[in-house]
Amino acid sequence: MNATAKYAKNVWDGLKSSLVGMQITGKYLLQKPITVQYPLERLPIPNRYRGIHYLEQEKCINCLACARACPIDCIEMDAVRHGKELEWVSFTLDYQKCMFCELCVYPCPKDCIHMGTEFAFVSYDRSEFKHDLLSFKGMAREAKIRMLEAEEKKKRKEAAKAAGQEVADEPESDADAEAES
Ligand code: SF4
Ligand code: SF4
Repeated sequence: MNATAKYAKNVWDGLKSSLVGMQITGKYLLQKPITVQYPLERLPIPNRYRGIHYLEQEKCINCLACARACPIDCIEMDAVRHGKELEWVSFTLDYQKCMFCELCVYPCPKDCIHMGTEFAFVSYDRSEFKHDLLSFKGMAREAKIRMLEAEEKKKRKEAAKAAGQEVADEPESDADAEAES
């Protein structure tokens, strides 16, 4: 092939590849875009997606079943028990270790730890990947009321016993019965 023919072939190849590229561009030009402007827009996430956990704290009984089921010990919790009531200190999940396997969810006897649909983790600080799932620290208002009532009841019983009176058992509240079940 002489130099002129080679030059002509190169020009033709360049033109041809541009035409093929423009043909593909033209094919998608009039179609609806399939990309979304994340994070301003998000694709719908299936309900069974295994994202960041959330805890229904008021149902949790600090039984540790979720922490024991976790194969890599991501879950730690701390609560002070006042009789049947809990004063919460922390309930942390370390997302530096979590592999989103969901094994912590199934053994929960109160069905109160779940995996949600949130997934975005962005931080320059590793310590921020240890999430506290508590929605409040300390005691819930209702729990505090129940605890004070129980203490009052105990005091009344002890006072009556000291006075040598027969004490009839007071009926348990619904909350007591539920906590015992
Ligand atoms: S999803 Fe798996 S790894 Fe993560 S906390 Fe639960 S059991 Fe542990
Ligand atoms: S298994 Fe459920 S009830 Fe028990 S500590 Fe974990 S979240 Fe709470």
